[in-house]
Order: sequence, then structure tokens, then C-alpha cells
Amino acid sequence: MTAAVAIRHHGPVAVVEIANPPVNALSRAVRVGLMEAVAALGADDGVAAVVISGGAGRFIAGADIREMNLAPEEPFLPDVVAALDALDKPVIAAIDGAALGGGLEIALACDARIGSGKALLGLTETRLGIIPGAGGTQRLPRVVGVAKAIPLICEGRILKAKEALDLGLLDEIVEGDLIAAAVARAQTQAKRRVSALPVPAGDAAEEDAAATQALKGAKGVPAIAEAVRVIRAARDGDFAAGMARERVAFLALRQSAEAAALRHLFFAEREAGKVPGLDGATPRPFGKVAVIGAGTMGAGIAVSLLDAGLSVTLVERDAEAAEAGLARVRGLYERPVKSGRLSEAQAEERVSRVSPTADWQRLADADLVIEAAFEDMAVKADIFQRLDAIARPGAVLASNTSYLDLDAIAAMTSRPQDVVGLHFFAPANVMRLLEIVRAEKTAPDVLATALVLAKKIGKQPVVAGNCDGFIGNRIYAVYRRHAEYLVEDGAAPEEVDAALEAYGFAMGIFAVSDMSGLDIAFAMRKRRAATRDPSERYVSIADVLCETGRLGRKTGAGWYAYDTAGKKSVDPRTGEIIAAARAEKSISPRAFAAEDIQRRLVSVMANEGAKELEEGIALRASDIDLAFVNGYGFPRLKGGPMFAADQMGLPEVLREVEAAHAAGGAGSEASALLKDLARTGGSFAQWRKT
Ligand code: NAD
Repeated sequence: MTAAVAIRHHGPVAVVEIANPPVNALSRAVRVGLMEAVAALGADDGVAAVVISGGAGRFIAGADIREMNLAPEEPFLPDVVAALDALDKPVIAAIDGAALGGGLEIALACDARIGSGKALLGLTETRLGIIPGAGGTQRLPRVVGVAKAIPLICEGRILKAKEALDLGLLDEIVEGDLIAAAVARAQTQAKRRVSALPVPAGDAAEEDAAATQALKGAKGVPAIAEAVRVIRAARDGDFAAGMARERVAFLALRQSAEAAALRHLFFAEREAGKVPGLDGATPRPFGKVAVIGAGTMGAGIAVSLLDAGLSVTLVERDAEAAEAGLARVRGLYERPVKSGRLSEAQAEERVSRVSPTADWQRLADADLVIEAAFEDMAVKADIFQRLDAIARPGAVLASNTSYLDLDAIAAMTSRPQDVVGLHFFAPANVMRLLEIVRAEKTAPDVLATALVLAKKIGKQPVVAGNCDGFIGNRIYAVYRRHAEYLVEDGAAPEEVDAALEAYGFAMGIFAVSDMSGLDIAFAMRKRRAATRDPSERYVSIADVLCETGRLGRKTGAGWYAYDTAGKKSVDPRTGEIIAAARAEKSISPRAFAAEDIQRRLVSVMANEGAKELEEGIALRASDIDLAFVNGYGFPRLKGGPMFAADQMGLPEVLREVEAAHAAGGAGSEASALLKDLARTGGSFAQWRKT
């Protein structure tokens, strides 16, 4: 027996306990241990029945995802599950925590499943771009029916004990000693193999509806369409045929590029919270939070704080603006109430935790203040000076600035160590990304506080260094610039957008610009005009659009035209402005295939990301990927720009970046890191700053 699996005898009942901390993942040692335990107990005449347990507070949280990037090693999980299924003694799964993925597949091969109130059950494989591969797609429909199995598997839903009981997935919820109850039950339990049960007849219309719904939510994830097919096949032949079908689909998906990308993001999320220099830093309390500025961002930030159970003081310039801020917060709750995600009473309760005010003295006892006023250094300077005078010692002072120099903001106070950037993304109550900007003097415990806050409010933190645009907006600016070079060189904006959408972005970059409004970037370009490198290629098409009043969706026209219902169409006037810009520079337009556009834009993003890695602005390539996937609509199935570049092969990325440099001039040079990795056969994924 391996150390990961132990057997304890309770009279005629053997309790097999898995111990592979922290979550009892199904690593090879666990699979070997289970296999040996099943063989030993099957042969032991003194054992009449078996209980499988994951110990207190646990069951088995699923496969060991680290092993998924390696060649599979025997025994394979389906073989372990088959051995368990074949055991001719009753087996009870005793679930006191997460039974997910392969963990639930093991429980489904038992004759009964009982759990404590803390049991969590789910087949979550599709979240990683695969389907259950050890019988989950064939056993679950035998227990809950095809129509219910489809959404459970396709959405990777995790059921609480009570929900699982209602579905018949748990046979009993035990209050008190779970193992004692399992041992008692094991002695009276008859054999009831799920694999031998018929698939319930079910209602064909209900099954069709479940399948349609699942495919609608699939967003191109191949695993979901495959899961629907394999689950429905549970009814087509016998159990063995269904299992064979599941196996083929599982193996193909496991090797797919999409699954590799999702696995990459899974690890990226866990890595992102590991930040050097924080050892021993104790996060500061943030029970009393205040937000300064209740505009678009301030209101959204307030809502994400309220949603996490916090109370928020919302500070504005005057009483009227404060009331308008409260109205904005209230407005943000309309949609979740309408859709039924939140009850009217819940929304009311949340809104009741906001106190709008124009009285700055209210900031005196705040633990954490998040500034979200105008993006203007003079405004921020004034606010941080006033905060310095009012806030209590040790309060964390955060700014939501998108581009301004955080060191300069911190320098407005006598306590720069307490200042940090908390860069939320619009809409702040929805977008998952939170860029945490570490200024030169930010104290480790302030950064640690920001990371805890991110977790509390359900955001994905990514730590960035201080530079113009931090991690995300800096790369986005390069991406946009090169999209405009492509347009000036011959691609139509709608061709660029179509290529990006075909790549997996929900919206192309020009449609996004129209949606956010072209005026903000225009104002910034004007501000920076004096300091721009003259050898950087400058495309003035967007300036002309703005000068002619085409500020995007809000003015009915920008890169595209919009009708009164907001539907966009290609606008010949934009075409004329583009043609004039080309003529002025004597550019003869050439054609770009969708793949050319995709390759170019992903390459320049990764190149700018490489510069951030060199400079220490981003700690690791996977942080950049997380930022783009969670804040900028980069397709999850492509894993982020750095991962996508690794997949393309860095020598090819470098060739593309050199072509982009020829097209873009200063500012578009290949990064030294990219050149180095391309030359030495390295990858962004493996690179770490030394
Ligand atoms: P906004 O104009 O919608 O809101 C700013 C609010 O701040 C207004 O309600 C204004 O009355 C208030 N305000 C201004 N000066 C103030 C002061 N001295 N005291 C108190 N309140 C004051 O702007 P926004 O889009 O919400 O942007 C706010 C900040 O968030 C900016 O720094 C911006 O760069 C950043 N940001 C914006 C976005 C975005 O997409 N809009 C995204 C990320 C970050």
C-alpha cells in the first residue's frame, strides 16, 4: 500500500482512506494505492463491505492536473474505477468535502454515496477543455437522467450536498459521524452497480432543450459539444460501448490545443498570487472601505465591494454628485434583479450598505480608500494630499489610475509605502481582472492586503510594476497601434475585426474602440504629441474620425456607422478617410489574409509582453496571459498572448515582429528577451527572471 492510501478495519467493514494533501488529487500514488486496496480487499474473506473516504473535510478533488502535461502513467483512472466497479462487495463513498471530476467518478462506481453537509459534487472536466474520462459521462446519466446530466457536465457545475441529494446523486446526508454512518450502512447495503442500471427513459424534448442550451453556452469549447454527444450515447448501446466512446473522445480532447490552453490558465491563476518579497507580510484589515469618485468606475468598484459583503463610504465632490453616485450604484443592480440572479430585497440590502457623502472627514477612520476620480494628475495630486492629511496612519491608499505615474501619486503623500494601484476594468463589477500596481515604495503588507482584497471580491489579481499603462494597457496600446498600421497598409477595419473574432475575441478592436469612445485615446494622443518619438509611425485616421465628430457608438459613428437601434454597419465615410490617409503617405494598399492579421497582432502583443518581463513590470508570462484573458477579451481557448506565442514558436514570432518593426518604426523593435529565447529554443512559459 502507498502512503497515500490506508486501510482501517471496523469489524467486517474496511475503510479505505485516501490522504494526499491538500485536496486528495488522484496522483499516481493514489491510483496505485486504490488499485492495491481493491485487490487486497476483494481477496480478503474477512472483509464483507468497503467504505471509501477522503478523511475529514475531504473526498477527492479530481485528477492531478500537473500530471496531465506528462505522458499518462499506469494505473489509469478508468482501470481503477473499473476494478472498484467489479468488486463483489458493497462499497460506500463517504464524502465530507469535494468529490470533483475523477473523485466523483470514483464515488459513482460505488453502490451508494453518502455525505456530510459539506459534501460538494461535480464533474468539472469541461472547465479544463476535456470530458470526464473514467465513466462519468456514462454513470451520471444512469443516476440523474440524460437531461440533467448534460448541464451538470457541460457547465461543470458543483452541487452542494442538498442539491446532490435532491438529484439522487447522494443517497443520504449524514449529520454527525460520517464514517460511523458509512460503516453501519455498508453492512446492510445491497450491491447496486450504477454501470448495471438502465439509463432512465427521460423526456426527449427536455433532453433536446438541455443539449441546445449547453451548445449555446459552449462558446466554441470543443469539449462541450463532445460531452453532449457522449452523454447522449449512453443510451445507444450497452455500458461498455458508451465507455469506449467516452475514452476515444477523452483522449483526443486531452491532447487538444484548447485543453492545453485551459490547463495553462488554471496554473496561471494559482501562480499569480505568488509574489516575491511578501514572506511574513501580514495583510492589513480593510473592514472600512471608502471609494472617492462615484463615476463609471467608482460605482462599479463600490458594487463589487458591496457584493462581497463590505460596506462602502462613497465620497464625491458635492452632495449632488454623491447622490448621483448612489443612483449609479442602484442602477447597476437593475440588471441582476431583472434577470432573477438577485432578489429585490438582496439588492436593496446591498445598496443600503453604501453611504454617499461629500464630507471628507468621513475618510478619517477608513482602513482602505480607493480613488477613482478623473484621470488627471492635478486632480489625483490634490486628492492624495488631502487624504494624507485626513486618513488614519496605516490606512491603505489606492488609486484606480489607468496610466498615471503611481510613484508620482505616492509622492504626494508623506506615506508612499501605503500607496498601491488597484486598477479595475470596466465594468468594474463584472470584469474579473484586478491589476495590482506595486509602486517603488509600496510596502509588502500593503501589497499583501491588495491580494487578499482581490480574493475577497472575487477578482483575479495580477501584480504589475509601475510604468505607462502597467501590464495590460501598455500592451493594448501596441496592439491598437499595429491594428491601425494594418488598416493604413490596406486592411479594412472590418477585416481586422473579423480576423480577431475568428481568432476567438468576442469583438474586434475597432468595434471595441467605438464602444468605449474614441475621444479618450484622442485626448491622450494630443497630450503626448510633444514627447512622441518622431521616428514612430503615426496613424492619424482616428484623429480625423474624432475631428469630424465620429467618437464611436455614442455619436452614431466612429470606425463603423450605427443605426438608432445601435446596429453597426460598414461606413463608406470611414473608407474615404482611410483612403485619404493612405494617399497622403503614398501607400498602395495591399491585401491581408485573416491569418496574417492574427499572427501580426498576437506577435506584437507578445513582444511588448516580453519587454515587460525584461523590465520586471510583469513577474511571469502567465500573469500577462491572465491579464489579457480576464481584462481584454483575449480568447481563453488560446491561453493568452504569451502562451499563443509559445505555441506559434518563438522563431516565427520573432520573424513576424521584425516585419512589424519595419512597418511601425521606433517603439516596435523586437525585445532582447524574445530574440534570446528564439535563438536558444526557450519559451515564455519557462522563463523566470534571474
Ligand atoms: P468618471 O468621469 O465616470 O468618474 C469620475 C468621478 O470622480 C466623477 O463622478 C467625479 O465627480 C468624481 N470626482 C472628480 N474629482 C473628484 C474629487 N476631487 N473628489 C471626489 N470626487 C471627484 O471617470 P471613470 O471612467 O469612472 O474613471 C475614473 C478613474 O478610473 C480614472 O482614473 C480612470 O483612468 C480610471 N479607469 C477608468 C476606466 C474606464 O474604462 N472608464 C477603466 C479603468 C480605470
